[in-house]
Amino acid sequence: MNDNATYPLKLFNSLTRQMEAFAPVHAGEARVYTCGPTVYNYQHIGNMRAYIFADLLGRTLSWKGYKLTHVINITDVGHLTSDADVGDDKMEKAAAQSGKSAWDIAKYYTDAYWLDIDRLNIRQPAKWAIATDHVEEMIAFANSIADKHCYELESGLYFDVSTVPDYGRLSGAQSDDIEGRIDAVEGKRHPQDFAIWRKTPEGETRQMEWDSPWGKGAPGWHLECSQMSNKYLGKTFDIHTGGIDHREIHHPNEIAQNQAHNCSEHSGANIWMHNNFLIDRAGKMSKSSGDFLRLQVLIDRGFHPLAYRLMCLQAHYRSELEFSWENLVAALTRLKRILMGVERLVEKAEAKAELVEHPALQQLREKFDAALSEDLNSSKCLPLLEELLTLKKLPAGQRLTLLAEMDAVLGLQLTNLTRDDLRVRPVDAALNETEIDAKLDQRQKAKSEKDFATADVIRDELTSQGVELMDGDPLRWDWKIVI
Ligand code: AMP
Ligand code: ZN
Repeated sequence: MNDNATYPLKLFNSLTRQMEAFAPVHAGEARVYTCGPTVYNYQHIGNMRAYIFADLLGRTLSWKGYKLTHVINITDVGHLTSDADVGDDKMEKAAAQSGKSAWDIAKYYTDAYWLDIDRLNIRQPAKWAIATDHVEEMIAFANSIADKHCYELESGLYFDVSTVPDYGRLSGAQSDDIEGRIDAVEGKRHPQDFAIWRKTPEGETRQMEWDSPWGKGAPGWHLECSQMSNKYLGKTFDIHTGGIDHREIHHPNEIAQNQAHNCSEHSGANIWMHNNFLIDRAGKMSKSSGDFLRLQVLIDRGFHPLAYRLMCLQAHYRSELEFSWENLVAALTRLKRILMGVERLVEKAEAKAELVEHPALQQLREKFDAALSEDLNSSKCLPLLEELLTLKKLPAGQRLTLLAEMDAVLGLQLTNLTRDDLRVRPVDAALNETEIDAKLDQRQKAKSEKDFATADVIRDELTSQGVELMDGDPLRWDWKIVI
């Protein structure tokens, strides 16, 4: 362990509903599985919150000195339009609607997702586990539990949840909470039973289908995550993450399969962690609500992706976070101010110091560690980073070293991002930059001649064209397009 292990890392376990000290299965290691995207569409910024959270977790484990193995899956088959085992496969449906092949769609949206991962400075996991690369192994997994835990219906192979102990412990659902699932599939023994293999209906051909002991078909979504986490991280690994919606169906079903496969009561992961939703005024952000916000939309409006990352870090991952443009503007302004401080520090410090020895800085690092150790309280970490930037009398080299350490956790790229990088030009600006700059020159001239009336007229003209002047902006960016 290193200097940052002063406080034990405590994480909220959704399974036990309490804070627990992290105790790795393998000494010195941390193995984490994150449920990834279903690649039938773009990920919206709410989805991206789930990966920013998983990244913060991974970076915290690294800060603590654990050797991290992080796996994120890509669901490119098997996720149905309804969680009640009815409806179409999301991939096949997107293919039918667009006229492209399901494989092309998967590739296109996986690439789009990876681009956003990169833009948000989310670290690459050790493994991107792509579902369609594992279908043979999923069949073997299903086969190993079929006799004892499953039954076959015309539509597929179903898991009987009464064959494992404590089904639904994670969701805490009572049987009346799941009325929505009753009778969704004829012949199911219990409403919570779920498909682990879905057969292609007689006379149909799916774009994505495989031969199996139960006929041609495709794996169920839950099966994917059980098989891939088991393969890459082991029967019992440390942490499984996902959005809070997964606490209700997807993760209880994974747990049931893990128990069956591992012949154990253990859920498969010691800690199950869930991020809360990003919401907007209309409620939970979702893809089905038509025009959804994705990272590119933010960029098109002039926001650097890291402003969104900072906005997420300002909230605790277990709290709902409301998206609004005002909140995003505030996050961008905060990021600009932080970068101003970093620029001054970099100017002052010749180089990073090898060690952070000053007691006041060590104390600040401890506070940062304490905040992180309290179930990843990033919102408490940010003011500590800002405090570091104000401690001008302390040795600059050591401050720079500590800043880099803190940023290795927060992932805001503070030591290589410049304020110029944050100057993202909105895509639909009515005036071009040359026109705006010419007007600004005229205004500057009027001001220098103390002709404030003309300066005000120019300001009003620009405002009426959607350009807001920002005298004294910390970014030195003189204007912005009004959103
Ligand atoms: P999906 O692509 O729908 O499988 O979702 C990818 C991830 O995003 C999952 O972990 C979901 O639980 C999570 N998620 C979905 N909607 C939101 C939201 N509005 N806010 C935060 N996370 C979400
Ligand atoms: Zn999953």
